[in-house]
Amino acid sequence: MNLDTYQPRVSAQLVTDYYPNGKRAGESRTITCPYCRTQHSHGAMLGHRSAHCTDYVAKRHQVVDPRDTRHTPGYVLCDPAEPVNWQLEYVYGQLFVLRSKYRRLRAEHQRMQPLGAREKRVKENLGNEIACIATVLRKAGVVL
Ligand SMILES: [Zn+2]
Repeated sequence: MNLDTYQPRVSAQLVTDYYPNGKRAGESRTITCPYCRTQHSHGAMLGHRSAHCTDYVAKRHQVVDPRDTRHTPGYVLCDPAEPVNWQLEYVYGQLFVLRSKYRRLRAEHQRMQPLGAREKRVKENLGNEIACIATVLRKAGVVL
């Protein structure tokens, strides 16, 4: 399992779109994003898509840090009737995000140059958080 290239499969619900005047406009598909956990809308075709995660959406929902949902491998829109373990696919996306968070915090930790006791405590606490994240990722078999 290579998180850099693995494209999680998502259950893509087909919905009919209408104009404000009630006239049928066409069809699209909505998904729950395995990366930012919000809803995204795509054209009705099934198959691979780039993720629609945006900083704006992520900030509005404040579920994940938008910096951690950048440069994902995207996902594959699938028919909801396909025999896929959707929750497992979702977890793959979340592992990607958690690994991004790990790398971001680790870089931040390395840059910190604490002067006083308070700053040293802040760096130590961040180091502990990073260690906890690393434990979870290692248990899931993710290469850091
Ligand atoms: Zn997203």
